[in-house]
Amino acid sequence: MAKKSTKKTTSRPAAVNSKRAKSKEAEILEDLPKKEVPTADPVEPAVEEVASEVSVESAAPEEIYTTPRKSVAFIGSECYPFVKTGGLGDVMYALPKALVKQNCDVRVILPRYKCIPWEYQEKMVYRGAFDMDLCADGSRYYVGIMEYVWDGVVYDFIDNEEFFGWGNPYTDLVQDIPKYCYFAKAALAALNYMDWIPDIIHCHDWQAALVPVYLRTQFENTALSSAKTILTIHNLRFQGVYNIPTIRYWSGLPDYVFDLGALKSGYNDANMMKGGLAYANVITTVSQTYAGEIQTPFYGDGLDGHLRYHSGKLRGIVNGIDYDIWNPSTDARLYENYDISTVLDKKKENKRKLQEELGLFQDDQKFVIGLISRLTNQKGLDLVNAILPNIMDGNTQFVVLGTGDQMYENSFRYYEGAYKGNVCSNIMYDETRAHRIYAGADALLVPSLFEPCGLTQLIAMHYGTVPIVRETGGLKDTVIPYNMFSNTGNGFTFDRYEAGLLLDAINRAKDLYFNSRWCWDEVVQRDMDKVLSWENSAKQYKELYLDLAR
Ligand code: ADP
Repeated sequence: MAKKSTKKTTSRPAAVNSKRAKSKEAEILEDLPKKEVPTADPVEPAVEEVASEVSVESAAPEEIYTTPRKSVAFIGSECYPFVKTGGLGDVMYALPKALVKQNCDVRVILPRYKCIPWEYQEKMVYRGAFDMDLCADGSRYYVGIMEYVWDGVVYDFIDNEEFFGWGNPYTDLVQDIPKYCYFAKAALAALNYMDWIPDIIHCHDWQAALVPVYLRTQFENTALSSAKTILTIHNLRFQGVYNIPTIRYWSGLPDYVFDLGALKSGYNDANMMKGGLAYANVITTVSQTYAGEIQTPFYGDGLDGHLRYHSGKLRGIVNGIDYDIWNPSTDARLYENYDISTVLDKKKENKRKLQEELGLFQDDQKFVIGLISRLTNQKGLDLVNAILPNIMDGNTQFVVLGTGDQMYENSFRYYEGAYKGNVCSNIMYDETRAHRIYAGADALLVPSLFEPCGLTQLIAMHYGTVPIVRETGGLKDTVIPYNMFSNTGNGFTFDRYEAGLLLDAINRAKDLYFNSRWCWDEVVQRDMDKVLSWENSAKQYKELYLDLAR
């Protein structure tokens, strides 16, 4: 657990980079509205001066805007390319960029984890620092702000060695509860300190769920209280639950928020996600279907009743993918680039090179199935394990990329040995390999037990790789099942969570691939033609911001 320091400040910032980079973004930053911060502000003024320089990587494109400008603070625990463990990291990177194109001023607030690569750390510029009350006993903690501007988005990293100066973003709840109590409050305090009062504060998952609670309690008398809050659920499985005394101590929140309508859960627990859902002005989640599912006991993870109660402010907006990162015609990680007109030939070349790299038999006639995933029970891996021997028919290869539960890691290692040359288990996290599997595989498996949105099926489609998915959450909203009579659809689907149905879906895909290749090729091209960018979703978020700020 992070040690507390009573009435003392802790953790000084790392070396400050004072590189001067003056550009359009720097001017925008200097022109930001300065609002009065009332004296009731719980944050003391900084000792240090606010740096006027910012680090600017590249200029935002000129856009013609059709809606009024809105300012939005994104608060979340991970963001590509600084730190990413899953889809949340992708969204925290791509959505702010897409919102800039919708005439939004976006500032992303993140923890400054030690694991952020040095190439980004060295470009951060010191923006200021102050001390903040955190715990119930008034313990004070250092809050540093390190800034980095990139593609029109301002990234502010909350710096504190004690909470973020070691290890990976997530360790265990004993460490993570204090860390994210601190982060939620420090993020708001940093906005106040920088005098940047956004129209909207957009929080993501349980790690930022206390932000709306702090805003309506300890920050109620500050300039920030004019902002409206949105809490987006990326995965309801993770809620930040711990006993009330611990969360009450670390958060320093008043007793009345620990009641059953807000943070209290069960007899003696506090649930940070539950509190955030109660206090946020709007709740969103990452697909329409998941928004409905989480109001049922099976998918609600104990919060279905609470979500039904708040259903009037709950809505689903499906994720997109960032075409700058995920674009087969420019992706530098691929062996061969391709677009919709060259996919049929070039995919074969990508497949052969992938087979060579992974030590598989090189044969472009084989049906290569990919699986890129965290290896946890959410992802339907018990179904995959149950049927893998049934799909290994001599014409099929299977490539998995992922890390997670030992049970799944070991079973995939076992299958690699049992089907040498036709199964490859990459038990690792590797961005380059992920890109090459998306390009080289024929189909991508996503048989999840539940899937709030899912990005892998979207990326797969954009790379002309046909998804085979279970009809749940965002998978249901984004993959239209193939219809053999009308020759329409984008992929192969099954509904109930049963191994036999997954096997049936894979066999239907194989049947089309081996027996009606021209129909298969049309599915591939339809998938590549599908619009999956962030633009549509960003427009919906912008409309929501406009509604809220009205
Ligand atoms: P979740 O957020 O539940 O993990 P998503 O489908 O929303 O699942 O997002 C997963 C993201 O993480 C995708 O961008 C996928 O390519 C990436 N990913 C998952 N596992 C790996 C891995 N082992 N190596 C590289 N990228 C991975």
